[in-house]
Amino acid sequence: MIDTAVPNSDWYSSDAVSASQRFSAACTARSIAVEAAVHPLPDPHGRPLSTDIAWFGPANASRLLVVVSGMHGLECLPGSAIQVGWIESGAPDHLPADTAVLMVHQINPWGCAYQRRFNENNVDLNRNFLDFSEPLPSNTKYPTVHDALKPGGGMGDFGEQAGPFLGGLVAEHGIEDTIDLLMAGQHQFPDGFAYGGQDASWSRALLERVATIDKVLRRRVCYLEIHSGLGPYGYGQLISLQFGAVLARTRHWFGQWVFNPRADRKPGEAGHREVPGHSADGFMRLFPDAEVTPVTLEMGTYSPPETLALLMREHCLHQAADAAPAGELEMVRSQLQEMHCPADPEWRAANWTRGMQVIRQALAGLNDD
Ligand SMILES: [Zn+2]
Repeated sequence: MIDTAVPNSDWYSSDAVSASQRFSAACTARSIAVEAAVHPLPDPHGRPLSTDIAWFGPANASRLLVVVSGMHGLECLPGSAIQVGWIESGAPDHLPADTAVLMVHQINPWGCAYQRRFNENNVDLNRNFLDFSEPLPSNTKYPTVHDALKPGGGMGDFGEQAGPFLGGLVAEHGIEDTIDLLMAGQHQFPDGFAYGGQDASWSRALLERVATIDKVLRRRVCYLEIHSGLGPYGYGQLISLQFGAVLARTRHWFGQWVFNPRADRKPGEAGHREVPGHSADGFMRLFPDAEVTPVTLEMGTYSPPETLALLMREHCLHQAADAAPAGELEMVRSQLQEMHCPADPEWRAANWTRGMQVIRQALAGLNDD
């Protein structure tokens, strides 16, 4: 019988700290230097937090693949497993000529350590890559539900009614528009859901710094960000937010299954999303003189009503802080962990296989002259 399970289940860490150690150890074993960019805040146990950064291949490569995990902290473990597994499987020894890979491990280290989607300032980092000197996008839909997401609001004292509340929204708007209503991003409520912030976050500044070192040397850049928790269980959907030649190139490299919620659905149509402030757009602006191909890998887990209701409950409990019943926030966060990195070995095998496939396609695309 052929063993189709993940080659080394040890690549999947149980928490952010061990994932960070695992990533550093994998790099060190291959004599690859790791920059630990220390976050200003400690982890829940008072230990330092860092984003770990490693470079593979020639420093002067004209082709660069950037692979990022943990933009949404809760989703860091599947991305970490892909990064660690890519290194330990020996793939760095087979890079094409003139090609480098920049691995950015846990770009949102606070969110990874606290098992939160958001960062230390409640910012959804994928709504934070905006030009803050320009007027910020306005969201007229989210304010209609903001108060309900607070403790004592429509979801109950501590979010215990999140499921029925979400069910009501879905009955009224449909699931796609409900996701957009809650997740599109907003800049009015710092304590709200999918808050995009008012300035560039620590994580964004770090990513922009490390990705643009010697940027005049880069001719072709691919940006791959790894997420989980959206889409059918075990299905790794690639998402592009670009149009025209960039979208055509993305599908040429990665296949026709690349989905584009801006281009494939008309405004007003279910499934259409603008996602202002996404890091993919931010990355396009970083390299105005290079050919840039940004793509997001979303590894599906449980159904959106399940994951979203639990995220809303966690948001409510996080705001309630010490007023919430003891242990409830921790319990919800551990359930959320399963919803973003299922223990099922076949899900993990699918995540690993898809991650390797996408990295292989990205490296081939960068060398498709
Ligand atoms: Zn995500």
